Amino acid sequence: MSSQRDQLVCNARDCFKKIEDVAWITFCSHVFCAQHGKEIKLQQIGSRSCPACGSHFRDDLSIVERKLNRSMQYRALLLCGYCPETIMEIANNGITFWNFQKQQVCLNLERKVEYYRETVTRLKKDLAQDKSEAASKIHRLEQQLELVQSKLNEANEEKAALRATSGEHARNHHQVKKRRNI
Ligand SMILES: [Zn+2]
Ligand SMILES: [Zn+2]
Repeated sequence: MSSQRDQLVCNARDCFKKIEDVAWITFCSHVFCAQHGKEIKLQQIGSRSCPACGSHFRDDLSIVERKLNRSMQYRALLLCGYCPETIMEIANNGITFWNFQKQQVCLNLERKVEYYRETVTRLKKDLAQDKSEAASKIHRLEQQLELVQSKLNEANEEKAALRATSGEHARNHHQVKKRRNI
């Protein structure tokens, strides 16, 4: 098993599948998984283009299939027969391609970080607004509560005063009645 550091991921939008065995490599330095590579190959030669950057694929060499898990024996002879300049050129192209792919991974992660950061900021702002709306609603309700409470107090005072007046009235009436009876 290879680690994530030495693995490629498919450049097709929303795929990002880890490429384990077969890679489809393009002249514009993009790489696709077996499924997306085959989809490109199924298109007519003249109308093929890179799903990642839109570059037009002029011929069959614009996108090539590369088996990544070749045996040591196969690899041992892979560059044999070429002169050192050609070997260096091939190696240089391979390293440039690899660096470009790693840069793409970093860019993609940076975009994700930016997206999550923006979402968190927006949600915090919404939460602060919701909080301030809730606070002003609570304030309005407290004012209404205070108003209704003071009206209730007034009504209770009035009721108590009324009860006191009617009690006194009844007592007076009783005393008058008593006096008359003497
Ligand atoms: Zn893919
Ligand atoms: Zn491309």
